[in-house]
Amino acid sequence: MRKRVVIIVSILLGFSLGKSSLLQAQSGDAKALLEQSAKAMGGLQALRSLKNQVVEGEGKQFDSSSTPRPGGATRQISTFRYTLTRDLTQPRMKLEWDGKSLGARDDVRFVEIIDGSVGLLQEGSSSGKQSRLHPARLATRLREEKRAAAKIILVALGEKSLKRLPDAELDGKRCQVLAFQDSGDEFRIYLDPTTHLPTQVEILEDDPLEGDSRYTLRYSDWRKVDSVMIPFGLRLELNGKPLQEDQIKSVRNNVSLAPDTFSVPESIRNQKPDAKAIASQWLLRRVAGNVSYQDLGRNPPVEFVQIADGVYQIQGSSHNTIIIEMRDYLVAVEGPLYEERSYQVVKAVKERFPNKPIRYVIPTHHHLDHAGGIRGFMAEGAIVVVPFIAQSFYARVAKAPHTLRPDSLEKNRRAVVIESYGGGYRALTDGSRQIQIYPMPTSHAVDFQVIYLPREKIVIEADHVSPRKGQVRSAPAVKEFVEGIDKLQLDVTTVAGIHGDTAPMQAARAAVQGGGR
Ligand SMILES: [Zn+2]
Repeated sequence: MRKRVVIIVSILLGFSLGKSSLLQAQSGDAKALLEQSAKAMGGLQALRSLKNQVVEGEGKQFDSSSTPRPGGATRQISTFRYTLTRDLTQPRMKLEWDGKSLGARDDVRFVEIIDGSVGLLQEGSSSGKQSRLHPARLATRLREEKRAAAKIILVALGEKSLKRLPDAELDGKRCQVLAFQDSGDEFRIYLDPTTHLPTQVEILEDDPLEGDSRYTLRYSDWRKVDSVMIPFGLRLELNGKPLQEDQIKSVRNNVSLAPDTFSVPESIRNQKPDAKAIASQWLLRRVAGNVSYQDLGRNPPVEFVQIADGVYQIQGSSHNTIIIEMRDYLVAVEGPLYEERSYQVVKAVKERFPNKPIRYVIPTHHHLDHAGGIRGFMAEGAIVVVPFIAQSFYARVAKAPHTLRPDSLEKNRRAVVIESYGGGYRALTDGSRQIQIYPMPTSHAVDFQVIYLPREKIVIEADHVSPRKGQVRSAPAVKEFVEGIDKLQLDVTTVAGIHGDTAPMQAARAAVQGGGR
C-alpha cells in the first residue's frame, strides 16, 4: 500500500556550536598553560630549535557520508603510507602519498610540494602528470601544518586572540581548553591537566550537510625523539566520526635536506591560481575518496542543456541539477556539492523562470556530494521528496545550524517540508506532465531513488550509469541499475545523469553485456 508522510522541520531551535564559541573567556592564564605544555614537550627552546622534520607514517581513511545507509556506520575506504617533509620555520612541505583504495576506485598516489603560496601536484607515479596544486588544497595542508604537534604551541603563543575557554570533559578527563582565531578559523587546543601535553586540536568549520562542525586532530602515543615529545598516534575526526588514523613509523628532526626539496618548477609557478584558497576538511575527504574537488573555490558556469521539452540538465560543474518545468512551478532533481553551487544554480533558474517557484527538490541519495547543496533549495521553500528511510537524515540536514559560515537557509530561516513516501512510487503532476519518483535501493545507497518521466521515457539517475556523450562505461553499478529499472518495469529510452550528460538506455544495456566503452 502506498503511504506518504509529511513532516515540517522547524529550524528555529537547535544546539549551536557557533554560539558556544561566544562563551565568555575565563580570565587569562592561557599563555602560562601553553608554556607549561611546552615544558612537558621538552621546553620552548627545544621546540624552537626544530627546523624541519621528516615523518613516515601509515594508516587508514574512513568515509562517514558515502555509506549505503543515511547516517550509517563509517566505513574504511583506504590504507596508506606517506613521507612528510616539513619545514618548521616557513610554510614549506613535501608530502609523498601512496594510498590503496579498498573499493573499485583507483589507488591514490601523489606528491605535493608547497613553497609558500604556490604548490605542485604530481599525480600517480614519479613520471605522472604535474600541475599547480589547487589553492584550496594548498590552504588546507598549510592549515593542517599549524596543528602539527611540533608547531601548535608556538603557533598559539604567537596568536593575539589566544584565550582560555571553560574546561571540557574529554574521555572522562577534565581538560583545559584554549582557543585562538587564525585566518578566519577558530582553533581549540585541549590540554591534559596531568601530563600537560595537548590531547587534541579542533578547528571549527562548516560542513555542507552537518553544519557547524568540529574537525579534530587527536594526538596519542607520545614518544621522545631527541629531546622533544612527539605523538606517534594521530586521528582525524569530523564531529567525533573518524576520517583518518595515522600510526607514525619514524620521525627525524633537523635533517639536512637537499636544497631542491621544496622547489616548484617555474612552469608551474607561472600558472595563475584560479580558485579561492578555502581551507576545508571537505576537500581532504574528496581527495581520500579519489573524487573531484576541482570546482571548490571556482565559479563554474551554469549551463542549461535542454534534454526534452521543458526538461533541462544544468551542466557546467562535476554534478548536474535537472530542472523539470511544470505548468505553475518547477521541480529540481538534486542539489549537489555545496551552497556555493546551489546559490548559482538557484539564481540562474530564477532568472530563467521568474514566475515559477521551485516547489520540489528531489535528491537522488544522501551522499555528501549529492545532497550537500540541498539547503539552497530548502531556502527557496522547495519540498524535499525522499523515501521513508531518508526522512530523519534530511530533517537533520534542515535543522543543522550553519552559524560559522551562514548559508542561504541559515540567512533565511524557515520551516522546511520533508515529504517521505513508500510502498510504491510518488507521482507529481500538473495535469499534463507526470513525474514518477521510485525508491530503488542499491548497494551504493539504500535511499537511492530514480526519477522517471513516462511521457519522455527519460530516467534520471546518479552514480550508477553516469553517461557521457551517449556512451556508458561498463561497471558493476550499471548492471545493478539496469536490473533495478527492469524490476520496476519502466519503459526507458534515455538515461540522464547527475554526472555526465545523457545516453540511450540501450548503451547501458550494452555496457552490461560488456560492450559499452
Ligand atoms: Zn553516491
